[in-house]
Amino acid sequence: MFTRKNQENNQEQPVSDAKAAEKDKPEGNASQEQEKMVPDNSLTSAFAQWVAESRASKSDFIVAMIQRIFQEGAARSASDIHFQPGRLGVEVRFRLDGVLHLAGMLPQSNVYQIAARIKVLANLVTFKQGVPQEGRIPSGLIPNVSREIRISTVPVLYGERIVARFFSSGNLYQLPEELGFTEEILESLKRAATRTSGAILVTGPAGTGKSTTVAAMLRHLVKQDEYDIGTVRSIVTLEDPIESAIDGVSQIEISQDGDTTLDRLLLYLLRQDPDVIVVGEIRDRPTAEAAMQAALTGHLLLSTFHATDAASAISRFLELGVEPFTLRSSLEFVMCQRLVRRLCPHCRREMSSSTPNTIHVLRREKQITKWFEPVGCEQCNGTGYSGRSLVAEALPLKSDEMANAILERRETSVLQKIGEEMGMVPFHDLAVKLIEDGVTSPVEILRVFGL
Ligand SMILES: [Zn+2]
Repeated sequence: MFTRKNQENNQEQPVSDAKAAEKDKPEGNASQEQEKMVPDNSLTSAFAQWVAESRASKSDFIVAMIQRIFQEGAARSASDIHFQPGRLGVEVRFRLDGVLHLAGMLPQSNVYQIAARIKVLANLVTFKQGVPQEGRIPSGLIPNVSREIRISTVPVLYGERIVARFFSSGNLYQLPEELGFTEEILESLKRAATRTSGAILVTGPAGTGKSTTVAAMLRHLVKQDEYDIGTVRSIVTLEDPIESAIDGVSQIEISQDGDTTLDRLLLYLLRQDPDVIVVGEIRDRPTAEAAMQAALTGHLLLSTFHATDAASAISRFLELGVEPFTLRSSLEFVMCQRLVRRLCPHCRREMSSSTPNTIHVLRREKQITKWFEPVGCEQCNGTGYSGRSLVAEALPLKSDEMANAILERRETSVLQKIGEEMGMVPFHDLAVKLIEDGVTSPVEILRVFGL
């Protein structure tokens, strides 16, 4: 596709200079992603080559370049591509294995053409530059891009910030056993799925694969109904947006601008008496209450929720205003998950130290004497990582001690302690094992879990 070596010393690539870009971070639209961004030399040199080839092509430079960017994004399994206009130009960033990489910069003089070209592809109104818009580029519209791309545009200081999100086709048919859960968690997850009421909560920060887990659970439910139980359960989802179509499930996409709120929609839906209800994400008190009530009244509820670990998911639910009694009675299963990048097996470097090194995972101190570090090679696009691993902890709920702790609104650390006493393998222990086994690096654990 490209020869990286030839491009490394190319003098004609000032537009893709990562350092220059870093010095001039655009004001006014700084996002969390900015901190996570890491320079990636192989991607930046490839970008310079795409620029050169697009300039040399017969069609318009921007038309050719935008097409190339999407094609390369698809080929490299990017999950998102960001176009961020700044004072110096439009930064193009690829999210690979959950981390943003700066690919390069397109000239500021092309800022309107870039937005217009992407809007044309996504069937959006090109002359409206002052309002946010959402659209999609259908799979196949761009040659060699067989994934649908969702586009969102937001006006910012130097133009329009555009985020293109690839819809995954790779996990379309995945079942829970293919996601990488431990035997123990998988068993309890499947056991919870056989229940006819109660709530199953998949928690974690944004971008940790929660909806992939829920979709896999739904496929499991449909399959289980067909082959094991011989009955069919009515399964309905409320999603924003629908990420993958699942046979045997009625999926409803919640419209952003509709005036029916999620909790109201949930109440309407309950009148149709479904057996299984999926609420894409619980974000507010009315939804949390409506969902928990549904779980208490003979429906199996699956939902995702934003939390840093399984124990704090309970605390956050209580903070939202859900009654402890409701929570204790409705919760069937609570887990929290993360995705960590796997070290590239071709180039990782083993390190060791005679004195134990201290690392911090979610406020816990852990000692390690052996670990691996990322290096970067041809096989891994120079990033040192290749693919991701799921890490999950599940909080055991079935004990009087835990029930009482929830009823008494005990703090997160107490819930955590009870959980660990009941056999939960917590994130910090899982993290140490991943480091010692060389699956991932201490730096990646720090990036994913924080101090
Ligand atoms: Zn490598």
